[in-house]
Amino acid sequence: MDPLTANQSVKDFDLKPKDLCAYLDRYVVKQTEAKKVLSVAICDHYNHVRQCLQYPDRQDRLYYKQNILVLGPTGVGKTYLIRNIAKRIGVPFLKADATKFSETGYMGGDVEDLVRDLVKSANGDVDWAQYGIIYVDEVDKIASTPTQGKDVSGRGVQVNLLKLMEDTDVNLVTPTDMLGQMQAMMAMQRGDTPRKTVINTRHILFIFSGAFDKLSEIIERRLNQGTIGFGASQDATHETNSLHQAITQDFIQYGFEPEFIGRIPTRVTCEPLNKQDLARILTDTECSILKQAQEAFEGYNINMEITREAINEIAARAEAEKTGARGLMTIFERILRHFKFELPSSGIHFFEVNTDTVADPDKALKDLLLTHLTQGQEERLAAIHAYEQEFLEKHGLKIQFSNDGIQEIIKQSIDQDKSIADLCHNLFQDLGYGLKLMFPNGTNKPFVIDASLVLNPQKTLSGLIQKNYQATKQEPTDPKNAKH
Ligand code: ADP
Repeated sequence: MDPLTANQSVKDFDLKPKDLCAYLDRYVVKQTEAKKVLSVAICDHYNHVRQCLQYPDRQDRLYYKQNILVLGPTGVGKTYLIRNIAKRIGVPFLKADATKFSETGYMGGDVEDLVRDLVKSANGDVDWAQYGIIYVDEVDKIASTPTQGKDVSGRGVQVNLLKLMEDTDVNLVTPTDMLGQMQAMMAMQRGDTPRKTVINTRHILFIFSGAFDKLSEIIERRLNQGTIGFGASQDATHETNSLHQAITQDFIQYGFEPEFIGRIPTRVTCEPLNKQDLARILTDTECSILKQAQEAFEGYNINMEITREAINEIAARAEAEKTGARGLMTIFERILRHFKFELPSSGIHFFEVNTDTVADPDKALKDLLLTHLTQGQEERLAAIHAYEQEFLEKHGLKIQFSNDGIQEIIKQSIDQDKSIADLCHNLFQDLGYGLKLMFPNGTNKPFVIDASLVLNPQKTLSGLIQKNYQATKQEPTDPKNAKH
């Protein structure tokens, strides 16, 4: 987005939750609850920001930011939802991974680097960045109980993140950032307007996400305790959807500081995707990987069709990968990788992906290339003979392509992606006239078009005419003696 107009998107924010949800429906399959909850929280947040910009005194009022936690398995659209939200609103977006944090640093820097990276993703526009979204994935890995696997000094990281979520000033140039310091000094020497060196995090929205696998156990234990003595039947929904029922206490038991989880009031769960959902992702969403693949082939003038059965099969295989919609990309890539390599230079303009293609892409590609080659060869030979016939009818003279002439004309037709007829009309437009000069009384012997004539028709033809003229000067008017 143009930095000059960047902030305008926040100043003009007038989306309603239903508008935002409808926008998300165009890109994201399922996740109805998450779409609703996120739409409400995001609209609340940006309405508040807009009001603060309109009425600056609101800035000082106590306000609880709608930081958000999105739970759910990998590849089900958690990041995708937030990316699309940021795009729709027109605010910068930064994604980071909580496993990169440690108590003392984040990839060699510290947690505040998140904010500095957000400024970078806003093209250095601090004013714009201060209304951006920071998305921290795998937040479940910074729970502080060692039972959650790798303990990355979670508590310290949580405390540092907590500070960022509140109203904090972050220095944009750190003591270790030599380049930033030099740039600031040079700008000062040039007398440029001093660039902002600090960003405030008050209006930056923090969204956390994670799979929270083990949280279900805690929730189920709590839910079951409540029902002991009352026949405690295992409700099937506990297994699939128990994350929905998480309460603050569960997160604390999981290893989050009460202050940290308390600052993330909006929590919502994304559902796993089944094969029907995965098929819908391919067919019903804007910018789906199927459309992307089709557009990539269109770039080479190749039309790719896919059968319903193939889509279902791809979806079933993707489901078995257990990586959500990411499985679709893996399966798709595996099917199409050699097609993408071979087809652009094959002269093929149409192909269909069906269940055979999905089952054995290499064989399907070989078959396609072979059929194309034989079919194409027959069609091209027929076109060459049709041109010979057309020439005879038009000029009353027989022509015949030699074997190397045929090979050369086919090669040019493939290389230049032109039909045989177009190519012949173009190459041999003067041939009728030339032959009439050579054989004013006609000839029964077919005139042979060899590779040299195909490669260089003008030069070869005038050479032949000259030769023929000299021969006829010595042995006048017996066309049968004419050689070429
Ligand atoms: P995660 O839940 O791990 O954050 P992502 O949102 O990054 O997963 O999903 C990876 C990709 O899979 C997305 O970029 C998107 O193309 C696709 N995808 C995932 N879930 C959905 C969905 N529910 N609807 C449409 N596409 C999806």
